[in-house]
Amino acid sequence: MKIAFIGLGNMGAPMAANLVTAGHDVTGYDRADVVVPGVTMAAGAAEAVRGAEVVLTMLPNGNILRAVADEIVPAMQPGAVFLDCSTVDVESARAVAEQARAAGLSALDAPVSGGVGGAQAGTLTFMVGGDAKGFETARPLFDVMGRKAVHCGPSGNGQAAKICNNMILGATMIVTCEAFALADRLGLDRQAMFDVVSTSSGSSWSMNTYCPAPGVGPTSPADTGYRPGFAAELMLKDLRLAMQAAEQAGADTPMGAAATALYAQFVEEEDGAGRDFSAMLPRFEGRTRG
Ligand code: NAD
Repeated sequence: MKIAFIGLGNMGAPMAANLVTAGHDVTGYDRADVVVPGVTMAAGAAEAVRGAEVVLTMLPNGNILRAVADEIVPAMQPGAVFLDCSTVDVESARAVAEQARAAGLSALDAPVSGGVGGAQAGTLTFMVGGDAKGFETARPLFDVMGRKAVHCGPSGNGQAAKICNNMILGATMIVTCEAFALADRLGLDRQAMFDVVSTSSGSSWSMNTYCPAPGVGPTSPADTGYRPGFAAELMLKDLRLAMQAAEQAGADTPMGAAATALYAQFVEEEDGAGRDFSAMLPRFEGRTRG
């Protein structure tokens, strides 16, 4: 397939590399000077998308996505698929999809779960919003870059699924960390705590797969000094997108709001920036009830 890929950063570069390895013809553009083996770099975004059957974007936020869409939508060939894999606000995803559809294109919002490791290994999960025809066209690409793609409904629903998932993740990680810190003070051994909770009703991905306590459970960022992994500031970004969506939809999300406030404090007022989001555990260890 002839593919264009805009935004070849930490996630985009390995995703594009996997498409090349699978035999696709990939032209790329990034505003930074980037080299991805096997990807032909274009001088601009509009130039990169000419003649492409599928155009992927993997960009930092909704405003940048909107700006790039203004540039590339008029240059894309009719019937092509605009496949945005960035994590952005639901409103931007829906606006860009509408713009693409008005120009005779198919549009999909397909944010991912799995991080840089999943992008490299080709094991991402795609949560996809948009029309069924576009989903079928893109399916072989999802199969190359990921392990699973779920069609969640119309445009914006992929982003909706992503922020709901990550709101659960942020809240469960915090409560898992505060429970470990409480267990310490109650004299409960961390290994015993893991052995009980990971097989009991308090279990979650945050405990079982990504345990925030060093030396306990499977290897996780806690075992490498909380080097990300999934950085606390990215968690904060996703929680803020969830709060923005909740406000627009009139949904009551008190736990999500509490998680957002705690990650904001951790990243912007404490030492959380640049650390994994599970570094909430050392944060709670060092605090007493005030
Ligand atoms: P990144 O900053 O490494 O990559 C973004 C790339 O976009 C950069 O190379 C940047 O130069 C490029 N870019 C920015 N503006 C551009 C423009 N106008 N034209 C062309 N290129 C432009 O970020 P990332 O970690 O690759 O994340 C990308 C997206 O994936 C984000 O929306 C993020 O929330 C989401 N995401 C990231 C992770 C993760 O673990 N890193 C996991 C899941 C989802």
